[in-house]
Amino acid sequence: MGIERVIDTSIHEDDPEEKAVEFSLRPTTFDEYIGQPRLKTNLKLAIQAAKKRGDVLDHVLLFGPPGLGKTTMASVIAHEMNANFRATSGPSIEKAGDLASILTNLADGDVLFIDEIHRLRRSVEEILYSAMEDYKLDIVIGKGPAARSVRLDLPRFTLIGATTRTGSLAAPLRDRFGQSFRLEYYKNDDIQKIIERSAALLETKITPEAAQMLSTRSRLTPRIANRLLKRVRDFADVNADGFIDVPTAESALKMLEIDELGLDPGDRNMLTLMIEKYNDRPVGLNTIAALTGDEASTIEDFYEPYLMQLGFIQRTPKGRIVTPAAKAFLQKTA
Ligand code: ADP
Repeated sequence: MGIERVIDTSIHEDDPEEKAVEFSLRPTTFDEYIGQPRLKTNLKLAIQAAKKRGDVLDHVLLFGPPGLGKTTMASVIAHEMNANFRATSGPSIEKAGDLASILTNLADGDVLFIDEIHRLRRSVEEILYSAMEDYKLDIVIGKGPAARSVRLDLPRFTLIGATTRTGSLAAPLRDRFGQSFRLEYYKNDDIQKIIERSAALLETKITPEAAQMLSTRSRLTPRIANRLLKRVRDFADVNADGFIDVPTAESALKMLEIDELGLDPGDRNMLTLMIEKYNDRPVGLNTIAALTGDEASTIEDFYEPYLMQLGFIQRTPKGRIVTPAAKAFLQKTA
């Protein structure tokens, strides 16, 4: 889809301002990291135990929809372990040699974060097995009959992998993580706190009622909450002296075409097309993609999880079905 969607949960890599703001809003400690109580309790304990033993933290796998705070949590863990944070991503590591060079350049205790770890190539992934298990790197030197394999010692490090899909992770890799956690959608109250914290950091005035209103439209996702706040702030700067109260927020959301559940015209269009063309019959992911003109992976990773969380779409072995709840909502708000 050509138009940038506010509710899109991907980082717009090509937008330096967006990246800079996202970085500046990122919490650095457990105290600043709002919500996800189960995740925090478990990790705090694991970190305390590792510190007490004077050891590195066991490898951690974080999974869940984009924008829920996986990268942020990885950097918080590094901070709490007083460790260096090194970040890379599955698709950006092209060759086994690239990963070997990242691993050999780590220092003792470092945290290595690999985002989208399910997208690592198999040949690259295999290097990770012994690195994670024994802190050893197996490499082949030379070619043909003269080739020989050598085993190098690596520093003791913690790998933190993030993925939107655990299902796509090969079992040998998944099994090498000592701990794995699913990030849950946030509660509205927590999203409201995140909006108020971000507004303070951006030096934007917002009333608690307006923050609450934005929280209900942020798809329970911090990245969207921050993005919505920035767009509403722009609107308020132009129309309301920069002050965000309920009427200003309401007008801005209307302009952005974000409805009371955080759905945008793209979501509504997708649901409407599915109902019109298939009604109660299941629709395959590729068919939905063809209907809307989106990539199948975009629908699966970015749009569908929240619609499922709302109970608007059901996944069956035969495809996706729009639920009566979605139909009722669309009719009510048509
Ligand atoms: P993911 O890696 O899961 O896609 P990120 O960690 O990049 O998500 O989070 C997106 C943005 O949302 C971050 O820049 C951060 O500002 C904000 N954020 C995420 N989780 C939290 C949280 N628990 N508390 C406050 N802000 C958060």
